[in-house]
Amino acid sequence: MKAQFHTRREFLKTSAIAAASLPFVGALTSYAQTAAPPRKIGFALAGLGSLSTHQIAPALQNTKFCKLTGIITGHPAKAERWKAQYNIPDKNIYNYDDMEKMADNPDIDVVYVVTPNGLHADHTIKAAKAGKHVLCEKPMEVSVEKCQQMIDECKIAGRQLAIGYRLHFEPNNLECVRLAREKKFGGLKIIEAGFGFSIGDPAQWRLKKDLAGGGPLMDVGIYALQATRYISGEEPILISAIATTTDPVKFKEVEESIMWQMKFPSDVVANCSSTYKIRGIDRFTAYAEDGWFGLEPAYDYTGIRGRRSDGEQIRFPAIDHFAAEMDDFAQCILENRPTKVPGEEGLRDIKIMMAIYEAAKTGKTVGLS
Ligand code: NDP
Repeated sequence: MKAQFHTRREFLKTSAIAAASLPFVGALTSYAQTAAPPRKIGFALAGLGSLSTHQIAPALQNTKFCKLTGIITGHPAKAERWKAQYNIPDKNIYNYDDMEKMADNPDIDVVYVVTPNGLHADHTIKAAKAGKHVLCEKPMEVSVEKCQQMIDECKIAGRQLAIGYRLHFEPNNLECVRLAREKKFGGLKIIEAGFGFSIGDPAQWRLKKDLAGGGPLMDVGIYALQATRYISGEEPILISAIATTTDPVKFKEVEESIMWQMKFPSDVVANCSSTYKIRGIDRFTAYAEDGWFGLEPAYDYTGIRGRRSDGEQIRFPAIDHFAAEMDDFAQCILENRPTKVPGEEGLRDIKIMMAIYEAAKTGKTVGLS
């Protein structure tokens, strides 16, 4: 099998050709090509949990256009630790009830909302009302109505809202978008995608409906859904689904596993799965008239790689997804241009996931316009 290890420079050259017509690809080229910033954009992290601690704060140290200037936390002990580790002054430390005071703080340009899903609207709206741009983690919220409120309030405040879709900046995923758009293997017909893991602590918020909005679909199935949307370049119009639970005690409020099928306007069909029960599903494959291509693992922080039916590998050099995502948002703010991953993109996923749940609940095919 012939290996194909591209350099980042080669990749950027290739993707630049398609960038003008592909907003998804354009995000990466902009990130890579812009010159040194006039100033760094100040980020405050809201919610100092696992993702903020292990991914986002370290990634901020790798950014070109951003700096960690503030924190918002419900736990003063955490604030003390972060203050010492990242040299954050007392005046830049807030809790969820005094976020409006950020309005007077020029050190903070962006609030990155990294709290449980069902609190995203509350924290996003508070940040927007304090005059801050918002980068909000996926899934955007737990209902269509709350997503719309977030979009509306950021518009009223005149601030940008982006959703943390880090794979829109990841070279291997971008390469698959290119293969699909350029019809390298002919017209796309079928996409198979899945993402799941075995969830631990039964008391965690991910298993509570009000804070999570749902189970694995909302948490990681969203990546499989995203893959079908960015690979096909289309929005689903018909959905069917089945959800299962074999442990009704642990999975009392949310589904344990879910499978769903989607039909797109061009008659591309997708078959997707997500689970909290087993580990090892982390992939997508796109089948076209003359061949196939896909990634496995497809969605991890590192190690993403893939294969094509012509024997070539897909394996671009690893990047820090979070640094790329934050640098792109910072540039959008510095250049006063719209983000490639706006609130509207997050809202679209929530609408589709609500339709998936409806299809699973009713056993009927659900149409989407
Ligand atoms: P954690 O549970 O580890 O952290 C969430 C933090 O939110 C807590 O530590 C806490 O911080 C704060 N918080 C505020 N209110 C509550 C509450 N009622 N219950 C629990 N926590 C609360 O979650 P993660 O960091 O794993 O996930 C946070 C968000 O990031 C989610 O939306 C998730 O979907 C998303 N995520 C995205 C990933 C990606 O790859 N893009 C990967 C993992 C998660 P404090 O004590 O400081 O107040």
